[in-house]
Amino acid sequence: MLVGGELVTGQGPALAVENPYTEEVITEVRSASPGQVEEACQAAADAQRDWERMPAGERCDLLHEVANRLRAATDELAALMTAEGGKPLVENRDEVGWTAAAFDYYAEIGRDSAGRVIPPIETTQLALVVKDPVGPVACIVPWNYPLLLAAWKIAPALAAGNATVVKPSELTPLSTLALAGCFDHLPAGVVNIVAGGGNVGAQLASDHRIACIAFTGSVETGKKVAAAAIDRMARVNLEMGGKDPFIVCPDISSPTDLEIAARGGAWAAFLNAGQVCTSAERFYVVDDIYDDYLEAFVEHTRSLILGDPTDPSTDIGPMVSAPQRDKVLAQIEDARSRGATVVTGGDRGGTDHGHFLAPTVVTGADASTALLSKETFGPVAPIVRVRSLDQAIELANSTEFGLGANIYTRDLETMLRCMREIKAGTVWFNDPLTDNDAGPFGGFKQSGLGRELGREGLEAFQETKHVHIETKVERKEWWYPYSEYDGS
Ligand code: NAD
Repeated sequence: MLVGGELVTGQGPALAVENPYTEEVITEVRSASPGQVEEACQAAADAQRDWERMPAGERCDLLHEVANRLRAATDELAALMTAEGGKPLVENRDEVGWTAAAFDYYAEIGRDSAGRVIPPIETTQLALVVKDPVGPVACIVPWNYPLLLAAWKIAPALAAGNATVVKPSELTPLSTLALAGCFDHLPAGVVNIVAGGGNVGAQLASDHRIACIAFTGSVETGKKVAAAAIDRMARVNLEMGGKDPFIVCPDISSPTDLEIAARGGAWAAFLNAGQVCTSAERFYVVDDIYDDYLEAFVEHTRSLILGDPTDPSTDIGPMVSAPQRDKVLAQIEDARSRGATVVTGGDRGGTDHGHFLAPTVVTGADASTALLSKETFGPVAPIVRVRSLDQAIELANSTEFGLGANIYTRDLETMLRCMREIKAGTVWFNDPLTDNDAGPFGGFKQSGLGRELGREGLEAFQETKHVHIETKVERKEWWYPYSEYDGS
């Protein structure tokens, strides 16, 4: 772990880290003891003052150097993420690149975000809106994109002038702990990394030195984080679950368009074995094209290669853990028992070890099943026939979530309608799941509070201060005594 600039061994219980492909324990990581979590929070609090006073241009150079070091460590970091999380190596190499890009992005916008000048009340005055750092930030991260989701918090928090304490998921601590070398050119205590499970996360969320908790994870845990923070009015930025709809409109009717929308849909549903917060989890396909779309989707799904995540030809690796796979299997089974059909998948796909679930296509599921209303977080595409775009939009908005939405159409009028009517933090047309560092990312409704990425992702770690400067030292006519004030 990294605490106050020192590499230290955890004094808390050991966490076994399993390789989801081999099902073997790769190593044990000692988690932080409560005393070490305190030390990390204190180190961040101690480092905060100098870090926030450092000229933004200097912080910018230091953050670009983090990006350089990340890129140089791509092989090591990607291999660790594949070993601990089961995501294909090719995807993890991309993830390291995106992680580095987030540091480069925030290095630049961090030095360009001093606030703004606003019109004063009188011409003798200067009025400013100044952005202050919020204070030490706890970054609590899930297992599905360990480095990227850490970077979306650490990079803007640092760029805004805050010290950080980072806690990876107990399932995937190795790649995050290996980041220590990417931060050792920063002043001691600016980035602290502690290992541990929910108890360590809970301690961070309630530590009085932590001014803001940036969290990505489940809705259930996010609510606990918010409850811990409200007690002292600490800030929160919460990225939680999703149940993203994927709408295919009737104008997607040529064989080429159907094939592209089927491939895009399969990628959106099965990427990282469906363990993406913005995975497409509900397909609404308009009646006219339903049969052709389903056929193209199933055919493509059956061609996907399940296997060793280190093999470059593997499309889909194992799921992260046995309990995660069991949860998804239970949703499929429940839907099947209530009349749904598993058209393909639903089993191990011929593998004999690893937490595999073959990419699965389900039709005829009832809208009230968990498969169509709760987060699944696995490689399952329930495909639903709808009468019209009206019905598709109504169903798209029918869950408690509002993270992302995908629509395939060439029709501009349909695009504008979906853009306005779909309640989701990101709406993608014809290009599923593409992130943009400059594009704010987050959810409506129970999918979250606040945004990561973009300028909003920086502002999450800033406090806003209005500064009112009167250049003349003069008595104001509206002061006491009112007997001398005519009210004009
Ligand atoms: P999780 O909620 O179980 O854990 C997330 C993190 O919170 C882990 O580091 C965990 O140790 C920690 N934690 C657990 N209990 C805590 C507590 N009481 N206080 C503070 N921290 C605590 O989620 P997970 O299973 O690791 O990740 C999967 C979930 O993450 C899914 O629901 C998925 O949708 C969500 N997710 C959301 C986004 C997004 O941007 N919206 C992105 C990726 C994943």
